[in-house]
Amino acid sequence: MVMHTFYTPIKALVLEYLHYHKEVTELDLATRLKIHPKEIRAILQEMKQNKFIKECYRREHSVSYYSFDEHMFINVVRYRLIFMRTSIENSQQQQNNQQPSFNCEQCAKRFTGNEILRLYNALKDEFICLYCSGVILEDTTAKVNIDFNARSGSRYGHLNRKIFVRQ
Ligand SMILES: [Zn+2]
Repeated sequence: MVMHTFYTPIKALVLEYLHYHKEVTELDLATRLKIHPKEIRAILQEMKQNKFIKECYRREHSVSYYSFDEHMFINVVRYRLIFMRTSIENSQQQQNNQQPSFNCEQCAKRFTGNEILRLYNALKDEFICLYCSGVILEDTTAKVNIDFNARSGSRYGHLNRKIFVRQ
């Protein structure tokens, strides 16, 4: 369930309870979930700030009822999902730059995209090998493989599945 992806077990439990039971009081949560009322209050406050839940004060009972704001929650999850995907893509990009995808023509030593930037010789307009002064060329076969992996999205395919289970 999506909640467990982002929250600690206790918070996820509270959210789940609020999701399945309409209009719950602080005391309900504390007794049903066997969590200290102080802790429940702190969690509820945080969720209220994040707009995941709504508080409704009933004067006749002098108590506040809490309910889950599904619409808001889904929006927040979407936002976090986009953020998560962007950071995964960024780290994937970084990994590609660290992958040795350049070869020295002469000694066959391999270099990464990051390393090669320092080996550029502007006079010759070539990348010069650190070890034998040979010319470094891009290994196109390696590049194709990396691009293919990035496109197939296999590294984070399981994440998407997990998150969209509820929708
Ligand atoms: Zn070399």
